[in-house]
Order: sequence, then C-alpha cells, then structure tokens
Amino acid sequence: MKFNLFVKKFCCLVVLLLAGVAFGARVRREVKIPDVPGYVTVKCDFHMHTVFSDGRVWPDVRVEEAWREGLDAFAIADHIEYHIHEEDVRIDHNRSYEIALPRAESLGLTIIRGAEISRDMPPGHLNAIFVKDSAALDTQEWRDAVKAGIEQGAFVFWNHPGWKKQAPEGKSVWYAEHTELYEKGWMHGIEVVNNDEYYPLVHKWCLEKKLTMVGNSDVHNPTNLNYEFHEGEHRAMTLVLAKDKSKEAIKEALKDRRTVVYWKNMLIGEEKYLRAIFNESIEIVNDEVTIKGEGAVHIQIRNRSEIDFELSANGAVEGISVPEDIRLYGDKSVLLRIRGSTEDFSGNKKIGIPYKVKNLLIGPDEGLGAELVIKVNFVPADKATGSPEG
Ligand SMILES: [Zn+2]
Ligand SMILES: [Zn+2]
Repeated sequence: MKFNLFVKKFCCLVVLLLAGVAFGARVRREVKIPDVPGYVTVKCDFHMHTVFSDGRVWPDVRVEEAWREGLDAFAIADHIEYHIHEEDVRIDHNRSYEIALPRAESLGLTIIRGAEISRDMPPGHLNAIFVKDSAALDTQEWRDAVKAGIEQGAFVFWNHPGWKKQAPEGKSVWYAEHTELYEKGWMHGIEVVNNDEYYPLVHKWCLEKKLTMVGNSDVHNPTNLNYEFHEGEHRAMTLVLAKDKSKEAIKEALKDRRTVVYWKNMLIGEEKYLRAIFNESIEIVNDEVTIKGEGAVHIQIRNRSEIDFELSANGAVEGISVPEDIRLYGDKSVLLRIRGSTEDFSGNKKIGIPYKVKNLLIGPDEGLGAELVIKVNFVPADKATGSPEG
C-alpha cells in the first residue's frame, strides 16, 4: 500500500470511529432544580413497570432511561397480581429489581425495591417500596399484602386515586378501607400526580392528614414513547428533600413528608418547601436601584431552575408601579421594568413586591405568595441627575 493511500484510509477509519462514538452518544440531561438549605433535592420516580408485570421494557432499560432523564433514585413497582407476558416471561416478583440492580449501581443511581399491590377499589392500588422481598406481598387478602410490606419496613402509598377505571369521572373517593390503613399507620402517602393526572382533592387530603405527596410516571412503555423529550417534556417525578441521595436518607425524608411533586411546568406540595425551592432558584442581580420621580428602572432577575415561574401581581406597592404578569424563564434572566408612581417621593426604602407564583401550587388552585425584595432610592424628579432610563 502506498503511504498516501494508507494515510487516507487511516483518516477515514478515524472519522468513522469518531462518527460512531457521536451517533452512539448516551447523554444524561440534568434536572435543574436547586438544593434547599440543609437538604439535597433528589429527583425520584417511585412507580414504573417492566415486562415482569404489564410493562413493555426489560428492567435494565428502565435504569438507563432514569439516568438519561436526570433521576437520582427510582423504584420499579411491578404488579403483584397481573403479568400479561406470563407465557414468555416467568413470574418472579423480585426479578425486575435483581436485573436492574447492577446497572443502577454502575450508573450511580439509587434503586429501591418495590411492588404494586393491585386490587379493586377499595382500596385500589398501593405501592410498597423499600421492601426486602416482594414475593411476600403475594397474598390472597389485600390486608395481608400490605401487612407483609409494613413488616419489612415499607413506605406505602396509594396510587392514582383518581384513575378513571377505579374512580368514576376521575373523582377520588376516600373509603373506610383508607381510613383503616391510615389509622393503622399503613399508608404513608398518596400519589397527588400519576403520569398526566393531577388530583387537587388528594393534594388537600395530604395537607390535612399529613400524608406524603408523591408524583410518579407509572410508565409502562419505553419513556420516549410517552414523552416529547425533544420539546422539553419530562416525566412526572417526586423531588425528595433528603440529607443525601442514599436509600436511607430518601426513606427518612419520605417519612418526614419532605417532598415536592414536579409535574409539567409545575411544582405541587407544601408551602414551606415550594418557598425554599423558589428562593434558591431566584436571584435579583441588581437589588438596589434609584428611581427619579416617575422614571423607570429595570430589575434583573435570574432564574437558576429549569421551571418557567409564572407570576401575577398580588397587591399594590407604595411608590412604584409594577407589571401585572411576569414570566421568569427557566435557566434565564429577565428584566422587570418598574416605574415611580409619584413625582416627589424621596428617601431609601426596602420594598417587597408581592406576586403570586401561579404554577407553584401550595393547595388546589392556590399559587405561592412570594415577594421580590429590592431597595429603592427615591429621588424627586426636579432633583434628578443623569440621563433618563431607556
Ligand atoms: Zn396501578
Ligand atoms: Zn402502576
């Protein structure tokens, strides 16, 4: 072979190899929601299925999906009671976890053993996670199944209480059986969100009864058949505010109800946790401004999270006028134009501009109240110096 030809062939080979690497890229998208003081914001999905019940994927594929989609921890919760692939896949309630475990460990994800007790309503479907042996939940009587989970130290939550197949017209109903589970301490949380459904009534129940709010995908298909990832969609997930990303820390946080549900462009949960996430996400870059008479200035607000916060004015502020609605775009900065409302105001004032964050739900239809705090140096118009603000 001539030397030039060799070089050409060698270069072609290198290009092909590089192209192969590029086409085979396996990429993780980080979910950008900040940690809060004292806790790590752990991105979790505690409900998904594999071929070992009625799902359409092999367990280790669930692991790579979780990794690619920015999760830190997850539970596969195959149905105890039905297995649509039983002619092709043997029934083994622990098998999906066992297959997924080494892949999860190699990718640094926390995997939690779980199972879905799937009965008629009431009590409907319940997930038991942090179990040691899912097979023990395969019992005749549903109470024995829950008991078996509880005896293994499980965290138990009620799944999709507003699922149309079990709740006529999608209205969640709390039955005597749920009171029984609740009073025994056998039900620790409820899905406020399941896949593409949000249950406002359940949100209210969780606040009143001090139950943990969870939101999960309950995905059966490969996730990229359910979500338009190229358009920025993400699966429903539970943000767990835990001391670290370990299984033990996640369980402790779940029992202490430190969760927020991340669903579409919304956060759903308890006020104190939504406030903590909002406060850590937002930074007012120039929080000290001078307003001359009725002149205008711009406040620059940076949003470190990936959520577009939708704010609407929540009351008047003395001395300034502010926009009625603002959208603080995720991972971007926006300019908020404020204007003096009198000619002759003077002096330094600390002002909290009141807004409602419409897509941070602290209760059904109730947005988080938040203040954008700035310091304003008011200068009367006739004493103003310098050029007017553009
Ligand atoms: Zn279910
Ligand atoms: Zn399910």
